[in-house]
Amino acid sequence: MELLDGKFLAKAIKEELKEKIAGYKAQGWRAPHLCAILVGEDGASQTYVASKERDCKELGMDSTVLKFPAYISEDELLGEIEKVNINKNIDGLIVQMPVPEHISSLKVMNHIDPSKDVDGFHPMNVGMMFKGLDAFLPATPYGIMMMLERYKIETSGKHAVIIGRSDIVGKPMAALLMQNSNPGNCTVTVCHSRTKNLKELCLQADIIVAALGRPEFLKGDMVKEGAVVIDVGITRVDAENERGYVIKGDVAYDEVAPKSSYITPVPGGVGLMTRIGLLQNTLKAYEWHMKG
Ligand code: NAD
Repeated sequence: MELLDGKFLAKAIKEELKEKIAGYKAQGWRAPHLCAILVGEDGASQTYVASKERDCKELGMDSTVLKFPAYISEDELLGEIEKVNINKNIDGLIVQMPVPEHISSLKVMNHIDPSKDVDGFHPMNVGMMFKGLDAFLPATPYGIMMMLERYKIETSGKHAVIIGRSDIVGKPMAALLMQNSNPGNCTVTVCHSRTKNLKELCLQADIIVAALGRPEFLKGDMVKEGAVVIDVGITRVDAENERGYVIKGDVAYDEVAPKSSYITPVPGGVGLMTRIGLLQNTLKAYEWHMKG
């Protein structure tokens, strides 16, 4: 079994990005600029946005966080997005989800300029991704594809089983793994909460992506010998430690790891690569904008 080490890989890719950005600045370009909009006081959202700010700083990118109270109206929020859309000094815009219930997340996503949509959630980017065209890819599947590529994992002709069909992980993961590309060229099965023969399907998989948000769901007896196992899950489970919780993935690691050829740990796997996905997209947006 070999570990797909997100910590090691993220560090290496960050060094490459840092060098690239320093090169652009040396030729007189301004720094790439990521803007995050945060609505309300959700603790997890604040933590995510803070880590994105830290990443930007580390790479020499500028970052701005616009914070609004949970009672901001939908129209006001769309107005704020519009201001960022037309700001020539900002390359990428993310609106941290979830937004309060009185605001339509769909309207929010649709309102972001597709050329600044570094989360890759705008329908234009989703459509382009499905067609295999150059687009911003949603950060988590993008991070996983980078991992498969860097570890030179053969995907062509393999059977990939994805557990979960969300818009941000399961569906785009399926789209990317089925593309005629490398990595890609998989035969893809997408499982979800209504799938009847999930264990049988998992046992046929050469590659399993577990993205359902149920701690330690994928057990050892659901995985065939030599499978590649990607654990996307992040769930806080109560524990008697200082923090009061531990983070669990969707894979029962101790049972599954001995059977797998490659496996991602949690933490230290997909989560860190997701952050790289966002940084790569921001750099891409910057290069587009600077080159006109
Ligand atoms: P979601 O809740 O939007 O979707 C979960 C999916 O799992 C649904 O499609 C549902 O049909 C399916 N599902 C639920 N129970 C199932 C079951 N018993 N059998 C088969 N399928 C089942 O979740 P999401 O946003 O895709 O996130 C999934 C997990 O990944 C969560 O733990 C989330 O925190 C984590 N996540 C991690 C990262 C990262 O960077 N590592 C990024 C995004 C999400």
